[in-house]
Amino acid sequence: MRQEQHGTTGRRGTGTASTGPTGAGAVLAGYPEAADKASLRRTNLSVMLRHLRENGAQSRTHLAAATGLPKATVSVLVADLIERGLVREGAPDRAGAVGRPHRMVELDGRWICGVGAEIGPDHITVLALDLRGTVVHEDRRALDVPTLTPQAALREVADQVADCLSAVADLGMHAIGVTLVTQGSVDTASGTVAVATNFGWRDVRAVHELRARLGRHAPPVLVENDAESGALAEYLAAPSADVRELVYVTGGIGVGGASISGGKLIRGSEIGHMRLDRLDRPCACGRTGCWEVAVGLQAFLDAAAAPSDRVHDLSVDLADRLDDLLGRADAGEPRTLAALAALADDLALGLGILVDVLNPPRIVLGGYFAVFGRYLVNAAQRALDDRRITPAPGRVLVTASTLGLSNAARGGAHLALEGIFQDPSDVPVRPEPADEHAWSH
Ligand SMILES: [Zn+2]
Repeated sequence: MRQEQHGTTGRRGTGTASTGPTGAGAVLAGYPEAADKASLRRTNLSVMLRHLRENGAQSRTHLAAATGLPKATVSVLVADLIERGLVREGAPDRAGAVGRPHRMVELDGRWICGVGAEIGPDHITVLALDLRGTVVHEDRRALDVPTLTPQAALREVADQVADCLSAVADLGMHAIGVTLVTQGSVDTASGTVAVATNFGWRDVRAVHELRARLGRHAPPVLVENDAESGALAEYLAAPSADVRELVYVTGGIGVGGASISGGKLIRGSEIGHMRLDRLDRPCACGRTGCWEVAVGLQAFLDAAAAPSDRVHDLSVDLADRLDDLLGRADAGEPRTLAALAALADDLALGLGILVDVLNPPRIVLGGYFAVFGRYLVNAAQRALDDRRITPAPGRVLVTASTLGLSNAARGGAHLALEGIFQDPSDVPVRPEPADEHAWSH
């Protein structure tokens, strides 16, 4: 497999290829100038496959209209993708058809999956997606990561990934890549976690460690930041042609953010460390007054429950503890509701700055913020509406992620699959469509 696909969702949005009149250009514009016949074919296969991912099943006529390619070329490209097991023919398109109905073409790739392995402060989530974005394996295990050495924590990740690889192999699927998703700043090129303050990690060669433990026959391993992976998952989960720009803000022990603009992932924002804590409390990063000290999970748990309360018990999975608190809020428990109201205020403070700087049409709240979406979204929306300077159009819409706590792992699995969308010709033609073991490197 080519390795340069690593972490570069931005390729969806940088380039020159014309993509026709459908408005899909923002997403499909990410292709290099085709220098020769082979690369032109590669580019066109990629355009087709991405268009099917973004827009769902299409007839060849629609594909031709949407991509600006001649219909004869589209038919040849579709035949090629079918041979590689990446698309299949679906139901006939009868809408508005005159004469013989066209057969719809849709993504297939049920035999291929990408794996995302998210390591958080208190859990590891490993999730596999097939090419259509369907979850084929999901496994979340509690782990107190800050108490372990990086090597010990990555050993746990490797064990869980190995279990996943064997589970998908049992399903007759081929895992094409693994993305390790972690907090903090990562160097995707060298596969290093530069700093993850909440784990106490510095310059951890995470990809190297994971590869060594998974063995030579494991698929390629990448590393990506959790907010960036989460933003990608939100983007790809959005209804087609609905969301092309968004800011994603995820809440956990740390607070991370990433944005997608013009179909391009914007990396590297340290929004959790904007100086916004009204109490100027110390932060794990060494500074004081960081936003994540105010809106991070620990501050919320401290505000919502006494120290002896079971919601502080790290041996209980976070999802269960949050569910417990959500139940209390729904039952009208005053301390939980007060904590949520304070959280909404502090959240709106930082979101207001993001809106001033980035002016996104949409903000998606992820992580534990999404769990309490019904208590946070409307309050944040009101606060952002109130502080608008002019009633001009372009109001930001606040929503909560619907992907749950596994959304960063899901984004990692999407990233692992990205190489196929970049270059479908990398996938060998399958000798027998039913042969699940046709893949060879
Ligand atoms: Zn900080």
